[in-house]
Amino acid sequence: MFVEKGFSRVPFDSVADCYIINTCSVTNTADAKSRKMIRKAIKMNPDAFVGVMGCYSQAKPDEVSKIIGVNAVIGNNHKKEMVELVLNNKVDECYVDVKDILRDTTYEDLMSFEFEHTRAFLKIEDGCDNFCSYCIIPYTRGRVRSKPYKDVLKEIQGIVYKGYKEVVLSGIHTGKYRDNDVNLSALVKMIVNEVKGLRRLRLSSIEINEIDDEFLEMLQNEKVIAKHLHLPLQAGSDEILKLMNRKYDTNYFYEKVQKIRNACKDISITTDVIVGFPTETDEQFNESLEFIKKVRFSGIHVFPYSKREKTKAALMTQVKDQVKDNRVKELMNLSKELEAEYAQKFVGKTLDIIVENTHEEYLVGHTTNYLKVLIPKMTDFIGKDIQVKIEKYEYPYCYGKVVEE
Ligand code: SF4
Repeated sequence: MFVEKGFSRVPFDSVADCYIINTCSVTNTADAKSRKMIRKAIKMNPDAFVGVMGCYSQAKPDEVSKIIGVNAVIGNNHKKEMVELVLNNKVDECYVDVKDILRDTTYEDLMSFEFEHTRAFLKIEDGCDNFCSYCIIPYTRGRVRSKPYKDVLKEIQGIVYKGYKEVVLSGIHTGKYRDNDVNLSALVKMIVNEVKGLRRLRLSSIEINEIDDEFLEMLQNEKVIAKHLHLPLQAGSDEILKLMNRKYDTNYFYEKVQKIRNACKDISITTDVIVGFPTETDEQFNESLEFIKKVRFSGIHVFPYSKREKTKAALMTQVKDQVKDNRVKELMNLSKELEAEYAQKFVGKTLDIIVENTHEEYLVGHTTNYLKVLIPKMTDFIGKDIQVKIEKYEYPYCYGKVVEE
């Protein structure tokens, strides 16, 4: 929208007339990083217009507006407002517009793509109604709202015409996508059947209990759907899962993973795990470790629990930071082991990759199951689908040889 109004985008580290900082508030670290970015922008050009939006603005507008040099603070679901504010630039003191997002039922359509080499991210949904006891997101993003399916189809077709090979569907709680009677599986089916020329469709993350049989059937039969699912587990102890207000137990999770693997043998299944959730004992953490080993994820994003105001878990007995740090290390080591174990299975096999970019003396691309593959540099391959024989794995890359263009 800014570009349409004649602005041009410059790297964040350069002096600009206007800085828009889209903040995150998922953890305390995210809040701190958001503040750091705001201060950095003000320091780089004290005369610039500094506008702050996103989840930190939504959660703590007073805190943001007190930072000297901030000109505007905008909440979620009306980010478009920022363009007019900058154009008018009449704000003498800090302008704050943050509404009660829990009452908002509209989907603010920002045509929000993000491009990364050959891959485009398309947001199709916002908000979450789950209220996991540790999570601030429902308070900063509001209720589930979805982009109309016709717009999704049109925009993906446009992305493919621009030359992008892969589209990642993203959202806050993507599995809850719904436009009248079109749910996520129906949407994916339409994308697969109606968008011409799309090479790969990936889901950013989906809850285990939102994978239905229709989706599994597509996963099994449609080559275009990436053979990688990111299924947030959060904890492998049933007691902790209950306290977290997650909607499954470990039994359900395990059975469903088996069902997914029966439909799609070599699929990569990655996950998120929070360690040091309030009251988590050593025993419960060990239970989590054992469960994770049993599932054999192909990668884990590990998060130390972060206390968020307004949430139920903030009122529970907290785990010491030192204990959390030790658990993070232990789980990250396990993640590395599991990652290597999964990748090693593909050594000697021939896989398709979409070549994305260069990496030192290599070209780099991903397979459908999200293995990161390096091949000798041949620049004319960027953007192409090629077949590669995997020769070895050295954390975190597979190394391959081109067998066929
Ligand atoms: S489902 Fe995800 S976004 Fe929603 S409350 Fe739980 S962790 Fe937060």
